[in-house]
Amino acid sequence: MPTPPELRSALLHHLRYSAGVEPDRASVLDWRVALSHVLRDRATAPWLEAARRTRDEGLKSVNYLSMEFLPGRLLEDAAINLQLRDAVVAAFDDLGVNVADVVDDEPDPALGNGGLGRLAACYLESMSTLGCPAYGYGLRYERGLFRQHFEDGRQIERPDEWLSHGDPFSFTRPETAYEVRFGGELDEVDGREVWRPATRIIAAAHDTPVVGYGGRWVNTLRLWSALPGGDLLDLDRFNAGDFMGAADLETWARTLNRVLYPTDTTDLGRELRLSQEYFLTSASVQDVLRRFLATQDDLRRLPEQAAIQMNDTHPAIAGPELIRLLVDDHGFAFDGAVDLATQVLSYTNHTLLPEALEMWPVDLMRHLLPRHLQIIERLDRRIHEVHGHAADEVHLIEHGHVRMGDLAFATSHRVNGVSALHTDLVSRNLFPHLEALTPGRLINVTNGITPRRWLKLANPALADLVTETIGPGWESDLERLRDLEHHAQDPGFLEAFGSAKHQAKRRLASWLADEHAIELPLGSLIDVQAKRLHEYKRQLLNILWTVSRWQRIKADPEADWMPRVKIFGGKAAPSYAAAKDIIRLINDVGRVINDDPETRDRLRVVYPPNYNVTMAEKLIPAADLSEQISTAGMEASGTGNMKFALNGALTIGTLDGANVEIREQVGAENFFLFGLTAEEVTARREQPDHARTAIEQSQALQDVLQAVAEGTFSPDEPGRYGSLLDHLWTSDWFLVAADFDAYNSSQELVDRTYRDPQRWQRMAVLNMARVGCFSSDRAIGQYMKEIWDLPPAQ
Ligand SMILES: *Cc1c(COP(=O)(O)O)cnc(C)c1O
Repeated sequence: MPTPPELRSALLHHLRYSAGVEPDRASVLDWRVALSHVLRDRATAPWLEAARRTRDEGLKSVNYLSMEFLPGRLLEDAAINLQLRDAVVAAFDDLGVNVADVVDDEPDPALGNGGLGRLAACYLESMSTLGCPAYGYGLRYERGLFRQHFEDGRQIERPDEWLSHGDPFSFTRPETAYEVRFGGELDEVDGREVWRPATRIIAAAHDTPVVGYGGRWVNTLRLWSALPGGDLLDLDRFNAGDFMGAADLETWARTLNRVLYPTDTTDLGRELRLSQEYFLTSASVQDVLRRFLATQDDLRRLPEQAAIQMNDTHPAIAGPELIRLLVDDHGFAFDGAVDLATQVLSYTNHTLLPEALEMWPVDLMRHLLPRHLQIIERLDRRIHEVHGHAADEVHLIEHGHVRMGDLAFATSHRVNGVSALHTDLVSRNLFPHLEALTPGRLINVTNGITPRRWLKLANPALADLVTETIGPGWESDLERLRDLEHHAQDPGFLEAFGSAKHQAKRRLASWLADEHAIELPLGSLIDVQAKRLHEYKRQLLNILWTVSRWQRIKADPEADWMPRVKIFGGKAAPSYAAAKDIIRLINDVGRVINDDPETRDRLRVVYPPNYNVTMAEKLIPAADLSEQISTAGMEASGTGNMKFALNGALTIGTLDGANVEIREQVGAENFFLFGLTAEEVTARREQPDHARTAIEQSQALQDVLQAVAEGTFSPDEPGRYGSLLDHLWTSDWFLVAADFDAYNSSQELVDRTYRDPQRWQRMAVLNMARVGCFSSDRAIGQYMKEIWDLPPAQ
């Protein structure tokens, strides 16, 4: 373990030889470059050792294919996992450099939209912590998810230039490169299919070390970037005078990893999106085969060495791609290739939302990936040959579209949902026919989060209190938090717990003041809903309730209202008009309420723009109340819900996703439950005019809707929310009206409970103590045993 003086000289060395400046001329960026290199150096020895052991001992490895990774800032996390954080702080102190400025200089790589990409990052970190050999495969988008600004309350998107100062923690590996082919024709030569592609793009690797807790094992996040294949320019066209056209290929290659699609559901039918998916998948599968063939020669043994996990259907072309490579390049018979691919592949389903279920038009598939379409057609025929009439309801291709979920299911030996409720709904509503053909293939693995980032890094005061109370070791054995239960009655501990929460609130307050000029009243109940903007997540229910609370305070200003701050965070997809209306409404309501002298000491709305991992690390530790209020049956799992509970917030929530299991774990008496169940939601939607009926039964909701309709929050444009209101009255697919009164009652119980600080803190401690099972270490342990067939910790 290096001492602070050793780190200090390492920093000075890299400042000089990596950043190329002297200390007296160094900028914050220069110091960050130096720190990146110092930490990367420290990660490299265990990284190379992990790679060597994996090769020499023939360890099976996991290949996690994901179109999104949302890792958050890398440096502090690496320092914590290398157990160097304190030494780094001491070294910078010694150098007279403010370490917080250096940490804050790092961009937050926004290579994902939300939960799905964040899950991939938690899982990669847990695989390293558990010593599970793994590669995370993704795309190195030049521009990550847009940066969000507000103008007159509206969301404005600006490009995210996360690479503008380089990427000093990663290694570029131009020699690790593969050709990925697109388009063209099929020919039959001597009874074999030969694909003559029209376009060839090169995928080149960029590797980021992912350090496990304790620094004993390091895995690789390998992100691909696209280069034009062969000659940079099409010389025939260039010589013929078509200078622009000659550069088309280069343009197209750059476009491939220019941007992340900014929708958390899929942009259906977009050629570029399918190209990106295939680009990721083909390069990664080729890399898996090359790594195998470097030490082995019999590909039939591939399942002993490699598991490929498809994170949602985005890389579902992996099945046809692996089959293609086995048949076309390695001489396998079709059936043998299918069996082998199925043993290697598995698939995680993340959603039931119909708009997110990928279906690619057959014509587009034929145009871009003709050989793969042919393989999919043959797979479809094979299913019907093998299963006969039992497979009558199964169609990989239907109504002119390839159904990627069914394809992923059919080419995987295991499929999993991400919470108990979700898996049950997947089984009943999404894949009942496929599951009947292969009973046991579908299992549940409830999502998890890494306690290193989400407690130790994000909430140092609480993490230190935990260590003082139950000793170290909880970081990699989160069930140990149960020991906190013994302290839930101890007034001294509860006070320390309350004071850690207060410290997190002060940190949030000073960040809000510095970055956004927003004042956070510290004596209030801090109530947070931070996640993507989506109608099913029902930020609308939250803000409408906020209006109702405002109206009631005004109607009875003398009453003893518990002060609240409603904090929102989240981005909407740029094309998602309804979600953008809700953002604007939150900001409009906030402006009026925050300016109202009669209520402003008892109710505030705070909406800092550009929610990302870094902001989550500030909001979550400070929260008293966690809003997990999606329409039941629509949130697959959620992981935000787990982060808040781990940080000692109480949840107000519906019986949806992993909320169900969180409530079981923490105890119903420590969870504010409200709302229709998934079954009741389905039944209610069948009732004619259910929306109008629900509104007419709630005076409070009518008052709110009337205020919005009259332009109370948009006096310059009273009709601004006409379409939003119209939707609520006439269809209300997300059952905002139906759940409004129940939500209000639950919120009133929240207030009453919060009035007794000891009681509240006891409940919060019990939440924290009992959510150890939502560690991503537990989830990865399950994947290793039940899906990847890997032995526990090496
Ligand atoms: C955890 C996380 C999410 C997922 O939140 P949910 O509440 O589960 O939707 C999204 N974005 C960021 C930045 C996160 O950290």
